[in-house]
Amino acid sequence: MPEQQGSRLQQLDAAHHLHPFTDSQALHRKGARVIDRGEGVYLWDADGNRILDGMAGLWCVNLGYGREELIQAAERQLRQLPYYNLFFQTTHPRATELAATLAGLLPGDMQHVFFTGSGSECNDTVVRMVRHYWAVQGRPERKVIISRHNAYHGSTLAGASLGGMKPMHAQGGLPLPDIVHIDQPYHFGEGQGQDPHAFGLERARQLERKILELGPERVAAFIAEPIQGAGGVIIPPDSYWPEIQRICRQYDILLVVDEVICGFGRTGHWFACEHYGLEPDLMCMAKGITSGYMPLGAVAVGPRVAGGLIDGGEFFHGFTYSGHPVACAVALANIAVMRDEKIVERVHTDTGPYLQQRWASLADHPLVGETRGLGLVAALELVADKSDNRRFPGERGAGVICREHCFGLGLVMRAVGDTMIISPPLVISRAEIDELVDKARRALDLTY
Ligand code: PLP
Repeated sequence: MPEQQGSRLQQLDAAHHLHPFTDSQALHRKGARVIDRGEGVYLWDADGNRILDGMAGLWCVNLGYGREELIQAAERQLRQLPYYNLFFQTTHPRATELAATLAGLLPGDMQHVFFTGSGSECNDTVVRMVRHYWAVQGRPERKVIISRHNAYHGSTLAGASLGGMKPMHAQGGLPLPDIVHIDQPYHFGEGQGQDPHAFGLERARQLERKILELGPERVAAFIAEPIQGAGGVIIPPDSYWPEIQRICRQYDILLVVDEVICGFGRTGHWFACEHYGLEPDLMCMAKGITSGYMPLGAVAVGPRVAGGLIDGGEFFHGFTYSGHPVACAVALANIAVMRDEKIVERVHTDTGPYLQQRWASLADHPLVGETRGLGLVAALELVADKSDNRRFPGERGAGVICREHCFGLGLVMRAVGDTMIISPPLVISRAEIDELVDKARRALDLTY
């Protein structure tokens, strides 16, 4: 794309486009970064610069850019049936095939899925579904859903309420009623000096205390990401999840796992539930289900909740684009490629461990207080003083500075405050991992 056209686009963009999660004043000063095309793990901006996409878009382009199998699947479906819905006793072949394919992949004994168009819509669906389930059981007072501070579950009213992002809650008076939050298992940020095992147990037992405080008879469900993504790739201590599972079982609270980021191979398993040995009652998927080529989400439901929903007759809920046929066709092609090329196995045994080993080598940098990760997702913590892991004062914006140096060097790495995070396409090669880690180190040097 000629450079002139790039700046023309920036002008049009500033004049007419309100962006999600963007500081509009900064955008007007600098102009949006125009991303023009992609191939494999690389993007090209409007000035022709090649950029390694260390975030797979927004944690979703798992098969990388330009996969013919997905493109052709979309084209075929557009010609055969570009749209039909799943309402009022109707289905279409791709939704049914995808539901059956997912049933073969899902952890435990989950056999049913409800399609949506996004991760946020999945979490809205969860709120309505679990309350409806309990009402069908004759327990309509079981309405409260417990989530965690600094969780991310989307941007709709229910998604943002389940999420625990303070700036989101501050805009618009969230959370909605009957959604409450407990602390996150963020050892580096909130448990310095404590034994990680004891810290994990203590954070999990906050759930038990909250259930007892509210009264178990009022609590419908607990929802969490296996690894908090947007909150800063927060990997809980090993003691955390088994204790959460025990508490949910003991008090008969439904466990909802949001796998919107972790699902479809990110951690070296089809779902992170398998890594943590979790048996959720409901599970949310989106993003990697189509490698981001089309918008699609799905809520998987275990036999207990599925049985209750079926007994309950009509569930007055659904979206025009629930299980859009083109999105379902792309998801089927995406899963077929992942199986044929053994992508999940490769992340588990080869590229995941390789990335983690190379990423850990950054721990010797004077700015790095901790590195952590699993599979092909990782984070590092920027600190002002390594001896006591003291943070930079907020106004320094070390994370943003580092992120901008990354862009300058041709790498997308995201900053969550002073936590730098990566989540590259799952097809990344060892040589590309070397490039990613080398560029990250150079960006750290420039930030120092
Ligand atoms: N849940 C999690 C864990 C997410 O990370 C996200 C998005 O990043 C969502 C839900 C919301 O998904 P969407 O942006 O597709 O609505």
